Amino acid sequence: MYSNDMHELGTRPSCIRELFEYGNKRAAECGRENVYDYSRGNPSVPAPALVGETLRELTTRDSLSVHGYTSAPGDPNVRKAIADDLTGRAGMNIDASDLFITCGAAPALVSTMMAVAVPGGEVIAIAPYFPEYGVFIKPSGMKLVVVTADTESFQINFEKLGAAINPNTQALIVNSPNNPSGVVLSRETLTKLAGILSAKSAEYGHPIYIISDEPYRELVYDGLEVPFIPGIYPNTIICYSYSKSLSLPGDRIGYVCIPKCCADHDDLVPALAGSARTLGHVCAPSIMQKTVEKCVKLRPDIKTYDENRTDLYNALTDIGFTAVKPMGAFYLLMKAPDGDSLAFSEAAKKYNLLIVPCDDFGCPGWMRLCTAVSHDMILRSIPAFAKLYADYAAK
Ligand code: PLP
Repeated sequence: MYSNDMHELGTRPSCIRELFEYGNKRAAECGRENVYDYSRGNPSVPAPALVGETLRELTTRDSLSVHGYTSAPGDPNVRKAIADDLTGRAGMNIDASDLFITCGAAPALVSTMMAVAVPGGEVIAIAPYFPEYGVFIKPSGMKLVVVTADTESFQINFEKLGAAINPNTQALIVNSPNNPSGVVLSRETLTKLAGILSAKSAEYGHPIYIISDEPYRELVYDGLEVPFIPGIYPNTIICYSYSKSLSLPGDRIGYVCIPKCCADHDDLVPALAGSARTLGHVCAPSIMQKTVEKCVKLRPDIKTYDENRTDLYNALTDIGFTAVKPMGAFYLLMKAPDGDSLAFSEAAKKYNLLIVPCDDFGCPGWMRLCTAVSHDMILRSIPAFAKLYADYAAK
């Protein structure tokens, strides 16, 4: 016997995974250089040199000190280094004890949702949203409520949000810069959101937390501000990852930060430790924790991603497609010309263009293109996009 639910989860491939596998098959058939794979969000900029240097140096140290277990929330020196860096940037004091180091943002989000869960609880996601939230929420037993996307501004539709909040709402997930839209929520938007959540929390007599999923915090263009949300809305829990900022997705390192200003801070911290424990968390990889300690002040070199998003956006809109110019992250949203994103993704395969329909992101009619690819691939793919556009125009 086995769990039907888990079997279903384990056998239903995500549409991104399916496209990626299809791309590998096509690459074997017609050559990698003839496949334009915009499917997966894997950083294309290498990790900074200091990461490699630190890892090499760590392997020369006493093995027991580098590879041993750390305490579950993380090595105290590493947490202190991250906390000091955050304090400098956040405009508020962050203490080492406010941090719990995780194996990336995914387990950070799962543990956080479990830590704030109550029976019958609901968590709101604003579309477009990262589809894995639907899976991440499962262990908490709560329900994911999706507020449909505002496909004009891709900011928050406050009318729809207001209608979705109810006494069961425990949290709202904010992901800015956003995967897949690349949109950054402005200070003005976040201030308005804070006002609504504060009023609703007071009305219902319990805090509604913001869970700020921010793996793309530092990937932002044109010097745009990515506000530190706890400074605007105190009841915010941050889920961070070094997967994208330091290009370390396979090394699994990130953290949860529960700032002191967060309601029930002193109980949430142990609740988070408990939820992580039930998920089998023992500690994040010790060698990666120590690497982060050394690299904590590094920021990503966004020049390549910036060039990619600008050149791809300009090329697609010159051809005639409607697209959203990304403000951050490394994704670009493009509209399916006839509004049928699933059919458009299929049609694009004719030209070996692998583009993700955003139906699972709660944003049907739109496509996600990952711009963390080689600049050369972008240039080579443009004629294929032009042919695809012409096919649709001739319909
Ligand atoms: N949240 C968002 C919005 C993401 O795009 C991703 C990964 O692509 C994650 C969370 C998970 O990141 P991690 O690799 O740190 O688990």
